[in-house]
Amino acid sequence: MRSRLLSGIYNGGIHRLLICSCRSRADLARDVCHPATCLLNNGITVERHDAVRDKLARFIKCMRPNAVVVMEPNQIAGHRQGNPKRPDILVDEGARSYAIDVSIVEPAAQSRMQHATLSSLNTPGGAAIQEEEAKKLEYRGGAHFATLVPFVVESTGRLGPAALAFMNRVSGDAAGKRGKFLLELSVILARAMGRYSVHTRSRLLPTGGNQ
Ligand SMILES: [Zn+2]
Repeated sequence: MRSRLLSGIYNGGIHRLLICSCRSRADLARDVCHPATCLLNNGITVERHDAVRDKLARFIKCMRPNAVVVMEPNQIAGHRQGNPKRPDILVDEGARSYAIDVSIVEPAAQSRMQHATLSSLNTPGGAAIQEEEAKKLEYRGGAHFATLVPFVVESTGRLGPAALAFMNRVSGDAAGKRGKFLLELSVILARAMGRYSVHTRSRLLPTGGNQ
């Protein structure tokens, strides 16, 4: 909630410098999204990603019991800065296969808001669409064995267009199960947001004393 309101890691009335102890020495009063991108919070970011991936894989198995669902497959489907990239989940339905790449993005991050054509300030879901485009480039020409699904979730819970289309296809008329999945997804995201705040508070620079 705090993050969604961009209110930072404390309620108002805290009159002290809030400087993160990471290498960036980010001023948390100015950059309220920093906890979600701070390298010292990377463990939370990885756990959040894996929790969403696992939840999605379970949902697909539930909706498509005959499909073969492989977590972290070996197939190289693209390259990122010269390094091979593998999808998070491979779904083989026989007639069609899907290579799913899960990512979670922060729409309030400066880089997302300052994007030239898909600013999250002006375009609803702009951050997710930006990431979808980036994923398509990473997997360009590499995922011939499956249809790429850049499953992008904004940290506020909004699904990107490709993720939404995939969810609708997999869940069909089962609106109840889809709703339950989305609710559980929002719990994962909210829990991570809370952990970002708590972990960042616990390691503010001591120089950020009362002003
Ligand atoms: Zn930091």
